Amino acid sequence: MMPETATFEMHPNLRKFLSAQPKRLWIGGKWVEARSGKSFETCNPATGDALARVAEADRADVEEAVRAARKATEGPWSSLSPSERGKLLYRIAELLEKHAEELAQLESLDNGKTIREAQKGDLPLAVDLFRYYAGWPTKIHGETIPVSVPYLPGARFFHYTVREPVGVVGAIIPWNFPLLMAAERIAPALACGNTVILKPAEQTPLSALRLGEILEEAGLPEGVCNILPGFGPTAGRALAEHPGVDKITFTGSTEVGREIVKASAGNLKRISLELGGKSPNIVFADADLELAVKGMFMGIFYNQGQCCSAGSRVFVEKSCFDALLEKMVERAKTVRQGPGLDPKTQMGPLVSQEQLDRVAGYVESGKKEGAQLLCGGVRGEGALSKGYFFKPTVFAGVRDEMRIAQEEIFGPVATVLPFESFEEVVQRANGTAYGLVAGVWTQDIKRALRLAQVLQAGTVWINCYHFVDAAAPWGGYKQSGYGREKGQYAIDLYTQIKSVWVDLN
Ligand code: ADP
Repeated sequence: MMPETATFEMHPNLRKFLSAQPKRLWIGGKWVEARSGKSFETCNPATGDALARVAEADRADVEEAVRAARKATEGPWSSLSPSERGKLLYRIAELLEKHAEELAQLESLDNGKTIREAQKGDLPLAVDLFRYYAGWPTKIHGETIPVSVPYLPGARFFHYTVREPVGVVGAIIPWNFPLLMAAERIAPALACGNTVILKPAEQTPLSALRLGEILEEAGLPEGVCNILPGFGPTAGRALAEHPGVDKITFTGSTEVGREIVKASAGNLKRISLELGGKSPNIVFADADLELAVKGMFMGIFYNQGQCCSAGSRVFVEKSCFDALLEKMVERAKTVRQGPGLDPKTQMGPLVSQEQLDRVAGYVESGKKEGAQLLCGGVRGEGALSKGYFFKPTVFAGVRDEMRIAQEEIFGPVATVLPFESFEEVVQRANGTAYGLVAGVWTQDIKRALRLAQVLQAGTVWINCYHFVDAAAPWGGYKQSGYGREKGQYAIDLYTQIKSVWVDLN
């Protein structure tokens, strides 16, 4: 079952982690089989070979995890002081950092992403989330408000607010940044004193399970975090429906986001949704064009294009359209594809056969609708044909209403579109159901800031792309979701406010 990579020395801890199989669920502080006894395989997308067997949670396990998480809200966790909670989160950050190399390798193996991206992106960002939120428990507080009652003139009251945890948080996350997404939910939820049930994506359950071991090592009381790999329509749905879950935080497709909203209506769970995108990346002719090409490229091809924030609609001002398109295509043609663990690899495989088929389907639809395929458009050949590789793809001759310009592809497929005026590009950039992010490339600061005002997006990057930070809010406009994760905004998601009146008369 062990994957072979000619050029890579597997971390001994990772070897040990992978040799203990099947991997189990983490419920109430114990590593257990699924109640049903079922398990599923997760594979190495670079080869399609099995990587590990993992216990498959379903409704019965969710039931148990909810019981454990509820019990933990009343146990030692609730009496831990904010300062102790902060220390615990800090300890988790330290341990994650200590195990970063091993985790980066695991992430690369299970997801397919390049080791470099895992080492430089996913891991330090995940560590930073725990470190950032370690500072928060001591700073979550209420306020006093000068209240009065109109029909009791002169009466005196003391009023204060308290921020309390929401309770049991269900976190349903996707496969594109498995550990990072887990950290993004667990860190603020714990900082606010909640307990968590995490359902990682079925394609990439391993780093979440290793994170569970780290949480255990850090001394997290039992049941405070529970980790349940399983499938969406079973484990995910059971979590979203469960009356004992107080909040769902979800990242994934807009389609499943809608399902989550419906499923959670029974007990009116609090919900935050980070959904799909079809984000515009807009380049004006006065931009630093070298930088802009890098930004166009990284915007769509980072993580094989499997980013909700992918800059998949690249708008280029007409006067520099041909030149930039040519550079983009040139670059795309020379990308070195290979297993993520090979340090020479610049682009890994897609996560699964299903994803490969989906991306290929979109390319076919683009061709059928008359778009001009300039490079890529096919899966990897030769040694790459065993894995789920898809060549970096660039389309020109795209009309805004084509499916490849409207729907989220979630793969390495760029549509490059010319534009002529500011007003035109704003209208077209805003012309999809989504509103997650937007990129702007220009040296004219007034133009950049005017664009930042009118673009309907939760994040606008000016002369940069894909930058994120634990302190910066993240979330979408329109059908890209609601609620803001990260930064102080996440404190609102993971707490509820109590308003207390005291009669002083
Ligand atoms: P993607 O399209 O990126 O695979 P999905 O939205 O399908 O994203 O999946 C994101 C997460 O949602 C995964 O953990 C998946 O298992 C889960 N999921 C899928 N369908 C459902 C559902 N009906 N209810 C709850 N969770 C689901």
